[in-house]
Amino acid sequence: MDEYNENIPKEETITDEAGEEVVLNGVSEEAVIGEVEGADEPFDDRDEDEEADEKEKLHCAVCDKEINFFTKKKVTRGLYICGDCEEKSAVHRYKKEMRKLSPEEALRVVINKITKAENFRITKSIDGYLLMDKPKELWTVPYAATAIKRIPRIDPAMIFSYDAIKSYELIENGNCMAKGGVGMPPIGGLLFGEDGAGFSANSEDKDICEQLQIMINLQNVSVPRVFINLIFKDIDKEKKAYGAAVLTAQKILSALENITRNKEGNYIVNSPADEIKKYKELLDMGAITPEEYEEKKKKLLNL
Ligand SMILES: [Zn+2]
Repeated sequence: MDEYNENIPKEETITDEAGEEVVLNGVSEEAVIGEVEGADEPFDDRDEDEEADEKEKLHCAVCDKEINFFTKKKVTRGLYICGDCEEKSAVHRYKKEMRKLSPEEALRVVINKITKAENFRITKSIDGYLLMDKPKELWTVPYAATAIKRIPRIDPAMIFSYDAIKSYELIENGNCMAKGGVGMPPIGGLLFGEDGAGFSANSEDKDICEQLQIMINLQNVSVPRVFINLIFKDIDKEKKAYGAAVLTAQKILSALENITRNKEGNYIVNSPADEIKKYKELLDMGAITPEEYEEKKKKLLNL
């Protein structure tokens, strides 16, 4: 299934150099690019119970690998795992929640998370920001920047099905620049010039981009939205890194569009009247032009 590749520019179009520029402009390797609401701050694994266990020989509760005072990762009272299992399960992002669980409950959660993570195979990466398992129709946004060649850090709690996506928005300096999603017309390439030049046209004419992010709204109560932060520190729009980030944004939007478009294909088609009503709403919102609306209407009524 190569439908994705048709609309998405080849990954090589972003050079290592440009990619690194985008990242280095921020906080470098540990910079958070994918955020999930409710996720905890990074793990501080030294705590009050540690001294008591200091002399004990320990094994990871999940994989049984030997761990010691320095390498053990505490999940909750009496439950220690190794660094690999912590990385895979990403439970360090949910430290507070995990500490509330009994060792048995916490172990179950860790194992479930690792199983979910291992089930996810990256078959497509959009510049490291959006990762997809196309055969399984799953996607995720890694939680730490993965400038090319670095291993993405995936939070299994942030692996979602294609169906989970409701809509997505490109946001620059707090302004919505483009919006798409299920049942919405395609964004298309019109927003973007080749080097991102045309992109800021309807922004408030700022020369500086303070923030460029993509917000993905989900039909998921526990995680209502996921952000992909492409720029999170002031950057001159003349800079190559800005153009690179805009290109990446475009690739991500194309991929999201493909995902939601595929999804629509699986849905029961609404009646023409419902469809026309939907497009009328889009017209009233200013999301489509009167010409586009008329064209859709004609098509739907078989005129
Ligand atoms: Zn382990």
